[in-house]
Amino acid sequence: MRATFKNEPFTNFQIESNNKAYDAALALVRSKLGREYPLVIGGRRITTNRTLLSTNPAAKNQVIGVVSQADASLAEEAVQTAARTFDSWKHTEPNERARYLYRAAALLRRRKHEFSAWMTVEAGKTRAEADADTAEAIDFMEFYARELQRISKPQPLTPLDEEENQLYYIPLGVGIVIPPWNFPLAIMAGMTTAALVCGNTVVLKPASPTSVIAAQFVDLLEEAGVPAGVVNYLPGPGSEVGDYLVDHPLTRFVSFTGSREVGLRINERAAKTQPGQKWIKRVIAEMGGKDAIIVDDDADLDLAADSIVAAAFGFSGQKCSACSRAIVHETVYDEVLAKVIERTHRLTVGDPADASTNVGAVIDDKAFRKIQEYIEIGKKEGQLVAGGASDDSVGYFIEPTIFADVDANARISQEEIFGPVLAFTKAKSFEEALQLANNTDFGLTGAVISKNRSHLELARRDFMAGNLYLNRKCTGALVGAHPFGGFNMSGTDSKAGGRDYLLLFTQAKIVSERF
Ligand code: NAP
Repeated sequence: MRATFKNEPFTNFQIESNNKAYDAALALVRSKLGREYPLVIGGRRITTNRTLLSTNPAAKNQVIGVVSQADASLAEEAVQTAARTFDSWKHTEPNERARYLYRAAALLRRRKHEFSAWMTVEAGKTRAEADADTAEAIDFMEFYARELQRISKPQPLTPLDEEENQLYYIPLGVGIVIPPWNFPLAIMAGMTTAALVCGNTVVLKPASPTSVIAAQFVDLLEEAGVPAGVVNYLPGPGSEVGDYLVDHPLTRFVSFTGSREVGLRINERAAKTQPGQKWIKRVIAEMGGKDAIIVDDDADLDLAADSIVAAAFGFSGQKCSACSRAIVHETVYDEVLAKVIERTHRLTVGDPADASTNVGAVIDDKAFRKIQEYIEIGKKEGQLVAGGASDDSVGYFIEPTIFADVDANARISQEEIFGPVLAFTKAKSFEEALQLANNTDFGLTGAVISKNRSHLELARRDFMAGNLYLNRKCTGALVGAHPFGGFNMSGTDSKAGGRDYLLLFTQAKIVSERF
């Protein structure tokens, strides 16, 4: 635990000893491949007949783990267990709850490379991407522990004579936590620990492709002393177990991060009051993006190209914050495009376990085929100027792909591809560029590269993105510095990693006493 909150530093992989330490962590993880991962309900390990094989995206025949799969009756057991545990957990002292997070963060820091290495093999993350994911998970726990301590202190109210007034943020109840696979440690850990530190109990339905990482984290929470039943690990098919959990009358809130389609489904289902249900379910839903970087006519074009390439192709574009649209002023369009193509050609695609790899495989067969389909659509909607090839003989590899001269209303400009596919669009003016950037149902991240003060101010005011970055890339939000969440169809703008976030997992109670 640090005296004050500070972001966990990233590992410098230019230093050979750090690469060696990572190699050792990969060897450790490889020695554990293929193990079985049971459900954990109330601390009890439950193995089921139905299992899921979690595999390596870069080596599709390599089994990472064999994961038990819940059904409706086990989902019922998990919710009932969480509801019973809530009766005691809600009364634990807030500082005690915070200390579980400090302890879990300390344990994770000590085993940093090991957790990152699990992400390299199960999610296809390069060393740098996996390291940033683990650092963010540590940050979330350090940050939310302090936030809980802050909101548990007496809160400012207008003082009245002869009456004592106090405001308490009390927990809600049983929360269903449904994370995505793309930040399989950070987002999953952040969503889970935010809910539990506030005094709620959790049923964690991990994303299927990264169920093993989630299981490792649940073990870590147990090691940190989090009592049995506070977090119940319930892997299973989202479409089956997810609906059951969302519909359950004892479910008090659903914390979801994932696609727009599933987020909207959850929102609709949670809105229906079930027999015996005593509350309006709260839904926190963070969803997709179609994020744009605007390049102005006076911009630093190298900065623009570096920002676009990093944001478009980092983790193969599989970030909600990824740049999938480059909207460039016509006077610098050709030059920016040439610089981006040149940098893209320098990226090495390969096994993310190799230190030299820049771009790994995409998550699974379904994603591979979907991205391929979009590349075919792109060939009709624009001019293919880089990449386009793919190969799934060993793993799910797709070249970083760029389409030039794409209309802002084209499908590849409008639909979330969630892969290494970038569309370039020309704008006649900065004002038009801004209008094109806002021409989307989403509103998650965005960036502007410009030296023009009035254009930067215009973007500050009118660019409809929950996280807007000026003269830097649109990925890489840091806990505490860049609370994260999107507008419109990107979600409920919950601002994870910010001061408002924990309030979503509590309800405020006022007590007034006259003496
Ligand atoms: P997804 O397909 O929507 O899945 C997300 C989670 O929902 C998974 O755990 C999934 O389980 C579960 N699920 C599926 N069907 C469900 C149902 N009917 N009821 C309840 N849960 C259900 O998304 P993904 O492919 O994992 O993640 C990629 C998406 O997440 C992208 O759209 C990306 O932009 C978005 N994302 C957003 C943010 C943000 O902060 N805004 C951050 C990261 C990612 P299964 O895996 O078992 O299907």
